[in-house]
Parts: sequence; structure tokens; C-alpha cells
Amino acid sequence: MNPHTKISVLIATTIVAAGCISLPSATSSPGIEVVPDSRVSLSAHKARDGQTLVIRGLIRSRTGRGGVSKGHIHIVVHDATGKQIGEAVKYHPALGMRRRAPRQIRFSERFPGAPPDALVRVERHSASESCEAESEH
Ligand SMILES: [Zn+2]
Repeated sequence: MNPHTKISVLIATTIVAAGCISLPSATSSPGIEVVPDSRVSLSAHKARDGQTLVIRGLIRSRTGRGGVSKGHIHIVVHDATGKQIGEAVKYHPALGMRRRAPRQIRFSERFPGAPPDALVRVERHSASESCEAESEH
């Protein structure tokens, strides 16, 4: 390999790495916090249906990582004072592991009566991870 080829390879690698970092790992709208996850691309946003707060989101397996094992999306809603007023757990199957496995899954959850200024936190937990909601099931 001559020196010029080596430099080209290095530049290509750098561009790929930078591309990964700039991927939208977490998109959010006001009042919603999406916790970044190294294995999935998670996005969610708030909507309203009358007096009901609606959370809609998308979980997608990142390419080239060998898929994502099953887990759940954990949604917690707090009011403006920080009091928890709602919680939901949305289970999802494995993503992108096998050829027929889905690469992405949409989810939505409704929180009737949640105020417009409610603060929402959306996070993915893998099946092996323990969390408070799972211990209640
Ligand atoms: Zn959880």
C-alpha cells in the first residue's frame, strides 16, 4: 500500500465515524426528553387529543449493529411541579436480528388528563434491565 492510499482510507474512516455521531439518536419536542440509546434510534413527540396527551414515537435498530434484542419503551409523565402523573411501558420485539424481524416499530400511548405543560421522559430498557415498572408486573 503506498502512502497516498493509506491517507485516503483514513479520511474515509473519519467521514463514516463523523456520520455516525451526527445521526439523530434522539429527537425531541418541547416538554419531552428522549434518552439516547447506543443501540437504537429513538424518537418521540407530544400531541394532544382534547384533554388527552398523546405520545407517539418510533424505535429503530441502528444499521450494522447486529440488531437489538427485545425490550420496552418506558414513558414517564410528570406535571410542571415534578410530580409523576403517568407511566407506561410499551414492549417491543427484537429488531433487525433476523431477516424477517422488523427494523423499526412505532409506538403510541395516551395519558388522559395530562396537562399541556406535562414533562415526558422516553427511554428504552432492554429486557434484561430491571426497572421499577417491571417489578410491578
Ligand atoms: Zn423500564
